[in-house]
Amino acid sequence: MFRYDPKQQTTDHFSTTNSKLTSDYISSVLPSKDGSIYFGTSGGVCRYNPADKKITPISINEDQALSNSNIIQIFEDSRGLLWILTKSGMKVLDRKKEMLHDIIPASSPHGTDVLGIIEDNSGGMWLSNSSKLTKIKVEYDEVSGDLNVTSREYDRQAVLPECDFNQRSFTKLQDGSIAVGDPFGIIHFNPNDIQMNDCKPKVIFTDLYMDNAPIEVGEKINGRVALKKAIFSGERIEFNHNPKEFTIFFTSDNYALPEKTRFKYRLEGYSEQWTECPEGINYVTYTNLSPGNYQLQVIAINEDGYESESPATLDIKIHHSFWGSPWAWLLYAIIAAACVWGIVKIARMRERRLLEEQTQKENQRKQEELNQLKFKFFTNVSHDLRTPLTLIVSPLEDMIKESTNDRQTKRLNQMRNNAMRLLSLVNQLLDFRKSDESDLHLNPSEGDIVSFARNVCNSFVSLSDRKNINLTFYSSQQSIELLFDEDKMEKIFMNLLGNAFKFTPAGGRIDVAIELTGDDQSKLRIQVSDTGIGIKDKDKEHIFERFYQVNDDGESLSGTGSGIGLSLVSEYVRLHDGNIRVTDNVERGSVFIVEIPIRHSETSQATHPAKTSAAKESSTIADAVQTVAENAGNDREKRKKVLIVDDSQDMTDMLKDSLDNIYDVVTAPDGVVALKKALETKPDIILTDLMMPNMNGMELCRALKENPKTVNIPIIILTAKHDLGVKLEGLTIGADDYITKPFNLDVLRLRMRRLIELNSKGARRSLIEPEPDNIKITPLDEKLIEKAMKYVSQNISKPELSVEELSDALAMSRVSLYKKIKQITGKSPIEFIRIIRLKRAAQLLRESQLNISEIAYQTGFNNPKMFSRYFKEEFGILPSAYQSQQEVSSAAATSYGKNETGAGPRSGTL
Ligand code: ADP
Repeated sequence: MFRYDPKQQTTDHFSTTNSKLTSDYISSVLPSKDGSIYFGTSGGVCRYNPADKKITPISINEDQALSNSNIIQIFEDSRGLLWILTKSGMKVLDRKKEMLHDIIPASSPHGTDVLGIIEDNSGGMWLSNSSKLTKIKVEYDEVSGDLNVTSREYDRQAVLPECDFNQRSFTKLQDGSIAVGDPFGIIHFNPNDIQMNDCKPKVIFTDLYMDNAPIEVGEKINGRVALKKAIFSGERIEFNHNPKEFTIFFTSDNYALPEKTRFKYRLEGYSEQWTECPEGINYVTYTNLSPGNYQLQVIAINEDGYESESPATLDIKIHHSFWGSPWAWLLYAIIAAACVWGIVKIARMRERRLLEEQTQKENQRKQEELNQLKFKFFTNVSHDLRTPLTLIVSPLEDMIKESTNDRQTKRLNQMRNNAMRLLSLVNQLLDFRKSDESDLHLNPSEGDIVSFARNVCNSFVSLSDRKNINLTFYSSQQSIELLFDEDKMEKIFMNLLGNAFKFTPAGGRIDVAIELTGDDQSKLRIQVSDTGIGIKDKDKEHIFERFYQVNDDGESLSGTGSGIGLSLVSEYVRLHDGNIRVTDNVERGSVFIVEIPIRHSETSQATHPAKTSAAKESSTIADAVQTVAENAGNDREKRKKVLIVDDSQDMTDMLKDSLDNIYDVVTAPDGVVALKKALETKPDIILTDLMMPNMNGMELCRALKENPKTVNIPIIILTAKHDLGVKLEGLTIGADDYITKPFNLDVLRLRMRRLIELNSKGARRSLIEPEPDNIKITPLDEKLIEKAMKYVSQNISKPELSVEELSDALAMSRVSLYKKIKQITGKSPIEFIRIIRLKRAAQLLRESQLNISEIAYQTGFNNPKMFSRYFKEEFGILPSAYQSQQEVSSAAATSYGKNETGAGPRSGTL
């Protein structure tokens, strides 16, 4: 930079090397009204102070941007503001306030290409860039230094011809007009001549589009007319719920420079903010507007910044869907409330029902408990009735036997029959109780049902005579062997026949028929038909139910009954896997038909001696009575001693009464006293009750069998319970026999006699214990027996082992062998051999897993049936029963110890 002094004719040179000039490239020089000179360089703005002739770079507030800028032009306006045009924008420096303003004209927001600047006479600033002129109106507050600018552009569209202005080529002429230079010449104009467009534009809505297509007036969108009238009428537009997207076009009435019109809008109900459309955009699009009422407001702004006086408005209504409408919501609320109410109601009802059910269950439980208590009481009473009944029946039988007076005998018989009837009722009640507790078990054994049934029928003969009813028995077969429970089958017959007799009038007939039926004759059919009153159809399906009794109209012939007989019968039949039904007899009466499958035991042996228990006992009794009576006359010195143990004084007295003509009777009220008396008096036999205070029958039995002094005394247990469990337990711990109350005194006497006989015939327990191999015989004479036993043991499986063979083996004649064996053992050699076989069999039954037939063959029996018979004869128990008893006793071994498990079947004598 050079300074020429015309007065002195001197030149000063300033450069970056000798001054603080920021660049040697100087683009603009401005002599300021304050006397200093400003330079615009390619490195910022510098000021020359004429007073000290120094150049300093300008920086304001450490703003380096200014000093680093590449300056195009510096201009000082009438307000004293410095306008600095740089290649990177335009700034205004307020030197008084030391403020630097960035000026970005609205027309050229990037503000980068301003090439020249000039101020017109009215203080307006004119800027040029390549193809347009911009007028900036400045409002400057000298006090605060605030600077407000508005701009208006003039370009080719407005007034200018095609042009391309040069840098800094801008000047104001004296008349106030302005000239701008470009490569084609000069554009000259007077700012005063330029009029502003102060017409405030109005907005007009022109179109409504959806999916890029215009919506016509009256066209339905989603079932609703969106435009009822043309959109410019301002009529509300409506859409159904959820219009995806729609666009509203508008325009203005600024016809001077419509393309320079700008718009701003807002949608009331959606946003309160005004939004300005970019230049040239005259529409607004809305997407996914939710249902509601809206108002679109649009304002137009003309090229000179004049806005519409008031916004143009267009109401828009987006309808709710049916399910989204307030009514729908109300409905939902009502439904929800109803549901809640319903749920609460149902929950309450359920609660109430549960409570009711609970109460009902509780009541049922209580009722059930009460019933159980009643039943228990009922059972106990029934149970207790059996003992006094025994006490009635047994002496009665004695009296009948002793009676010589016919009239008296008849009455006594009547008494006995009624007592027996009572007894059978009590038994039925106990059975009923058992079936109620599902405690009915089948104890089947093989037997001939024909002779069994015939025997039962026989017991009704006298009744049929008395009632003048013709009773017949028919069987298609001579005998039918099958597996059945003797006791239950007897009850089935007794009940069916009992009912038949009850409901058949005098002169009628009752037929019992047995035959085989089924395809392969695999079923047994028992038919009991009568010519009685018959059973009505409506009752037929119920008579097998408990407590059901036909409500007859006075036709009943008996008037008594409990309604449990047939239910028990059907239960027993069911236990045999059979079925029972009733039909009408051809002319009059009813027919009961029982069908049960024919089954056989795996180890099939004849077990029932084809007699009912009652019949069986009475026939044995007949034989026995004689013998017992004979014994009664025996030498008084040889009278045997019996110890009776029972806590019931009545029972003791009755037994004493009935036995003291044969035996010396000692009594004891319980097990403890009995044990003492047994040791003191050494009785020949002991009869003991089962249930007693202090020490019960089982405990007494065990204590006696454990004491060597009393081990040989035979024991008979008298029990009111008649279930298998008690019998087996009794036998397991060494009782010799059991008798169920009520018992026949003759049977008791007979059994007592046999036991005493067996016991006295000779040390039955010391000679032979069940294991033939382990027998030790000490007397010299009995060496022979030892040898004989050894030989038999070695040849035990030979069925053909004969007495001859044995005598040969012992080097004796047959006769002397017979004599010797008979003398020592009381048995013949044949019996001797058989007993050894049977003992071995018992041992095998106890210790092996073999079945009964296998054991029979192994011990030299050709026929399992014969084996069973001999076994029963010898030990009083069937091999099958003995085997199951052994299973029970070995299970009990854990609690009783070894002694008890060793108990075998009642030993035979040898
Ligand atoms: P109950 O002990 O009352 O005889 P049951 O169970 O044995 O009870 O019999 C039920 C009912 O069936 C009896 O009340 C009776 O009316 C009817 N009934 C049983 N057997 C015969 C029959 N042979 N003839 C006619 N009615 C019978």
